[in-house]
Order: sequence, then structure tokens, then C-alpha cells
Amino acid sequence: MLGKREGLGEKSTQRFRDGIGGKESVVDEQMKVFVTGGAGYIGSVCVEELIHAGHSVTVFDNLIEGHRSAVHPEATFVQGDFNDRQVILDAVALAQPEAVIHFAAHALVGESMSNPSKYFRNNVGAGINLLDACVASGVGKIVFSSTCATYGSPERMPMDESLLQKPVNPYGESKLMFERILAWYRELHDLEFVAFRYFNAAGASVRFGEHHRVETHLIPNILKVALGQKESVAIFGTDYPTPDGTCIRDYIHIADLAQAHILALKPEQTGFYNLGNGGGFSVREVIETCRRLSGRPIRFVEQDRRPGDPPRLVAAAGKAISELGWKPQYPQLDQIVQTAWNWHRIHPDGYPD
Ligand code: UDP
Repeated sequence: MLGKREGLGEKSTQRFRDGIGGKESVVDEQMKVFVTGGAGYIGSVCVEELIHAGHSVTVFDNLIEGHRSAVHPEATFVQGDFNDRQVILDAVALAQPEAVIHFAAHALVGESMSNPSKYFRNNVGAGINLLDACVASGVGKIVFSSTCATYGSPERMPMDESLLQKPVNPYGESKLMFERILAWYRELHDLEFVAFRYFNAAGASVRFGEHHRVETHLIPNILKVALGQKESVAIFGTDYPTPDGTCIRDYIHIADLAQAHILALKPEQTGFYNLGNGGGFSVREVIETCRRLSGRPIRFVEQDRRPGDPPRLVAAAGKAISELGWKPQYPQLDQIVQTAWNWHRIHPDGYPD
């Protein structure tokens, strides 16, 4: 049972149990939406919310990172890889969407430092195939998953959209390159866009959660320890210039990310937006929150810094709030961790495929 135990209000609870019903729909009209990476962690929850808001959805995913069972049953599923130009041209032409939401990407900071080629080829090169497919099929709008990693190690905190973008890893650089390409496609091909610079996506819906085949993210790795699947979690770096020496991140619930994407489908919305809650939590604080909410001991091991990690990333998301009318429903770290813990407890081995 969801409910008081989670600290979620009744409306929130109902929303998670049933998804967003027609009553709560934030769009005026149904759209055909093509979602790349819709079998992945953030994509699966966004598709769920799109369907509950009344949209008709095609999911395009190569299932290398994604899972077939994470595709909402009411979505049309196309298995394909946008590295193959003809495949994505054909898939978009067949779906004839009004909008594309583009999640499919490699998104691991650490891996991008050891294999930059993978990041530039997929996140930039293959992404251009998708943009060309949008232009060829007359798609009006693309909503793009960018990242706070495009800012690098910012000098000002919290971080708003006017900060200089100076990535410190190839992952952030690949996303920044794509942001710039989007601006050119808008100028030269009339392809409108919204690019969201996510801070740290976390949490789960009742049905869909976080299952990476190789898990590198902090919260699921801590919860694996709580489940007894891992002996300890590593703390990467304890000598950062932060109060407890560990990195600080701004965690945002994936259902709140999903809502921003739905708002961005409105034709008048355009531009770059940060999505975060404006609260920063250190690695040690996240471990403590997981320990308290799971009621299980969490062993940790202090290790060296992970290359490419900025010490502190905290969002100023006022622009999304005022311009998009975005209202996070699950801004508390406790809500985020509790929903993640609920999902991991019920799905200790993740998705079956
Ligand atoms: N982190 C950690 N141990 C882990 C995974 C991550 O200490 O097992 C740290 C990581 O160095 C970063 C923060 O937790 O400072 C969040 O990392 P994550 O990989 O979840 O997201 P990122 O910020 O890289 O997008």
C-alpha cells in the first residue's frame, strides 16, 4: 500500500496508483508522440504519464539499455537503433508524430571519460539522424533530455540557465553539442525544441523503476545493499570542498521530470530549462536517508574520487516553474527514495528481460 507511510498526500497516492487520469491531464488535445528510449528508466515513466494524459505514443528503443517489459502496453513499440539512418527515417515516417521526445542516449559520466567515442557517436551522430527524420516527416517539436553536466563545475550556486556551459566530461559535452545543433535546426529547418537540463533523476512510479544492466547510479546501488544484493556501496571521494567531503547533487523525481515533458509539448513552449528541486544532498546524506527509510543497515566503503564528477550541482529551476507552469509533486528526498525503495523491494531483480 502506498499512502501515509510514504508521506505522499492522497492526491499524489491516487496519481501513482492509477497514473494521471483524464481529469488531471495537462494538455488540451491528444497528440501523437514518438519517444526514443521509451523502454529506459526515465522514458518508461514519461510514456506512462503521456498515456495517462491521453496521448498516443510510439516507443522506439534498441533494448540495449532498455527493457521490453518497461514499455507501457498501450504504446506502440518499435525495436530499432537510430544509429541506422534509414531505420529511424522509416520509423518516424510511419508513426507521423506531431512531437518527438528524445531520451535515447548514453548517460554515464564515468564511462564517458573512458570511452568518449561511444558518447559522441551515439549522443551526437545518431541524434542527427533523428533530427533529419523529424525534418523529413514534418515533425513540429522535439523535446530533448539534456543535462546539468553541460555546465561543468559552475561557479555560482544554485545554477540557472544563464550560467556559462563548460562541460568537464564527454557526456556533458555531447549533450551540449546536441543542444547547439537543435538551435541550428530550429533556425534553418523550423524544428521547434525544448531542451531540459536534468539534475539527478531518481525515484520510481508503482509500475516502472530504475534497472540498468550495469548499475552505476547512487540510489539504486545503495538500495541493492539494503536488499542484501551487495555487501557495500562505494563513496567516490571524501575530500571534496563540501561540508561532509562528499559530492552534492539535486535529486528529482522521474514523475516530475515526465510532467515537464508533457508541458513542453504545448506549441508555445520553447528553449532551455533546468529541472531540479533546488535542494542539494551529499552522498553521505543520501546513504543515511536510504538507511532510515529502508530500516536496513547500509555498509559503505570510502574510495577515491570518480573522474569527471563536479563537487556540487544544485538547480535553480524558476524558469521551468514560471514559464512552463511546472510544479514538482515529489520534491522531497524522502519521497524520491521511498518510491525507489518500494519499487526495488517489489522488483528485487528489476525487469525480467
Ligand atoms: N556515487 C557514489 N557511489 C556510487 C555511485 C555514485 O559515491 O556507487 C556518487 C557519484 O560520484 C556522484 C553522486 O554519487 O557524486 C551521484 O552519482 P550518480 O552516478 O548517481 O549520478 P551523476 O551525478 O553521475 O549523474
